[in-house]
Amino acid sequence: NVLTLGQSVIPIVNKLQDIFAQIGSQSTIELPQVAVVGSQSSGKSSVLEALVGRDFLPRGCDICTRRPLVLQLVQTKRSSDGGDEEFGQFLHLPNKRFYDFDEIRREIQAETDREVGGNKGVSDKQIRLKISSPNVLDITLVDLPGITKVPVGDQPSDIEARIRTMIMSYIKLPSCLILAVTPANADLANSDAIQIAGMADPDGYRTIGVITKLDIMDRGTDARNFLLGKVIPLRLGYVGVVNRSQADINTNLSIKDALIAEEKFFQSRPVYSDLADRCGVPQLAKKLNQILVQHIKTVLPGLKSRISTALVSVAKEHASFGEITESKAGQGALLLNILSKYSEAFTSMIEGKNEEMSTS
Ligand code: GDP
Ligand code: MG
Repeated sequence: NVLTLGQSVIPIVNKLQDIFAQIGSQSTIELPQVAVVGSQSSGKSSVLEALVGRDFLPRGCDICTRRPLVLQLVQTKRSSDGGDEEFGQFLHLPNKRFYDFDEIRREIQAETDREVGGNKGVSDKQIRLKISSPNVLDITLVDLPGITKVPVGDQPSDIEARIRTMIMSYIKLPSCLILAVTPANADLANSDAIQIAGMADPDGYRTIGVITKLDIMDRGTDARNFLLGKVIPLRLGYVGVVNRSQADINTNLSIKDALIAEEKFFQSRPVYSDLADRCGVPQLAKKLNQILVQHIKTVLPGLKSRISTALVSVAKEHASFGEITESKAGQGALLLNILSKYSEAFTSMIEGKNEEMSTS
């Protein structure tokens, strides 16, 4: 049962990631996560938001995403009264639960400004946000600043190189799945997303192509050849999506209505009717989950052997304390054995050998 495996394994992985971040070490073991890459305004944040199903990311025409946002989705149980409580928590504000997703967006913006100022500055310092909800797949997503060519505002002259380095630091990890986002109204053969993803993942084992803005292509053109991989083939293929336009955002079109509109869009376009499995945000979510589960299955044996090794050494230490026994005499002997071990350790500590007392 593939789905159950994913849902039970990924929360553990997420917890590990939180712990690593808290102790200040990033990715000492390489854990599966999903990063979005592409040029500025290609629709990266919109795609992530649609996958989460909630409005909470800064997005728009300008450079909105200026620090990496590590977004951990945690699927919670639906409460018995049928309510579906959803809330966000930031690592930098651990004691506060955000129930208002507009407030989450404002906090992302405020925390971005705290680090890099209000004038388009970019930093590689992460913002970590955890969203708990019964309505999400268990997955960790990374929203990254887009590739830009010309420095604006407070950006240094080498902004493009810096952003590329930042993006590479995430997507070069063999465990990172890459959503390479390209708008359908641009030339796929010139896609920054496909280019940088290809550098990180030349064999294409962990890159999914996402084509956005299918709704605003030139009249008379369509994205069939993109989606079919006829322009640039990708092993894991492409999914085409229609996100909200800037006008939709300005009029506060809800994400739910946007998903309905997307479905209608594909239903009303005969050119996409035979490509249903490559069209729409729900298909992207499905594909992602399948790939992630497959991915975890392949890394499981390695994790397992690491844990077994640790287990063997703990068991050895445990055995050195003697057999566990039921009889009074046996228990007395065991206790004596443990005490003498402790006193040995204690003595050597006092003698300044600086060894830690063994406690297990
Ligand atoms: P990012 O810079 O890659 O994160 O891009 P954003 O998600 O911030 O989107 C940039 C702009 O493109 C916003 O104004 C979005 O409303 C718009 N946009 C994104 N996806 C689509 C789409 O599929 N169709 C249309 N019409 N507009 C989109
Ligand atoms: Mg963005």
